[in-house]
Amino acid sequence: MMKKVLVVGEVRNGSLRKVTFEAIAAAAAVAEGGEIVGLLIGGGQQEMAEEMIHFGADRVLLAENEQLDSYTSDGYGQALLQIIEQEQPEAIVFGHTSLGKDLSPKIAARLDAGLLSDVIHIAVTDGQIICTRPIYAGKAFEEKHIIDGPVLLSIRPNNIAVLNKDQTRQGAIQSVKVEIKNLRTIVKEVIRKAVTGVDLSEAKIIISGGRGVKGAEGFKLLQELADVLGGAVGASRGACDAGYCDYSLQIGQTGKVVTPDLYIACGISGAIQHVAGMSNSKVVVAINKDPEANIFSIADFGIVGDLFEVLPLLTKEFKQI
Ligand code: FAD
Repeated sequence: MMKKVLVVGEVRNGSLRKVTFEAIAAAAAVAEGGEIVGLLIGGGQQEMAEEMIHFGADRVLLAENEQLDSYTSDGYGQALLQIIEQEQPEAIVFGHTSLGKDLSPKIAARLDAGLLSDVIHIAVTDGQIICTRPIYAGKAFEEKHIIDGPVLLSIRPNNIAVLNKDQTRQGAIQSVKVEIKNLRTIVKEVIRKAVTGVDLSEAKIIISGGRGVKGAEGFKLLQELADVLGGAVGASRGACDAGYCDYSLQIGQTGKVVTPDLYIACGISGAIQHVAGMSNSKVVVAINKDPEANIFSIADFGIVGDLFEVLPLLTKEFKQI
């Protein structure tokens, strides 16, 4: 049955996040030929709305109010509820990002609707929409069937392939004034950390370091390999706790969940809490001097050796390609 599906777009540093296009692809599967309505909350995003249309949205709404310049769950929540009231979508798709994780459960509770979070695959079989999501920290997967709407979905970045971009695709872009009342949170100032290089949660290649890297100095070896491969550097909590690197690099149950094409784990033992954040990586390479380390049980390729010898060799070899 054709459905109207709303996609909540996400903007970071003035451009749309890739997960927005993945959410449109997820919406296309759920809509079964119905309408895909994109939504951008906050003003002045005409070009981004066009981009959403090029990637498969049929129509895009720009929800405007000066109080929506910065994200607050209260403000965005009020805007989103008004749009849902107007549009009556059968499904709403978010990225499983900090924004999606914050907003989707609140909206689901307000609508008394179901929420399927952290979805990594959507298939339609015999008219049934089946969503796959990891459970037990990635040790198992469950399939959930969408029986009735409205339903909210948050999709894990880097798992659902985006639709082909078609720059000739046309669609309506509509500005919608939303009312924001009695905001309980106001963002006074945003202090951004200087971020360089590739965004970890969207990186195709991640070189990740653990306690075995032994210090900030060791992390420079990882960065050198990441620079050669066009990847990003990640870390285990062990490395973050030891002060070798910033917590923003932490991957795992209490850090970021990543799904790169290639994950190179250096001096990481492979504790369940770390594996929960990277086990869906397409290819895992482990470098560890302990042949019994658990990381080898989930690795596609293992190098038993000292990372301080192996990493410079890899960097040298990749430089020559
Ligand atoms: P270790 O376990 O100490 O492993 C270091 C590895 O380096 C060893 O396998 C060793 O053989 C190898 N090594 C040492 N020297 C070298 C060398 N020269 N060359 C090659 N290999 C070498 N952890 C996370 O990562 N992410 C999370 O989100 C997370 N959340 C948690 C939540 C909870 C509630 C709890 C209780 C724990 C959590 N942890 C998390 C911590 C987790 O349990 C582990 O303690 C942590 O992942 C260990 O980090 P590590 O592998 O870097 O260190």
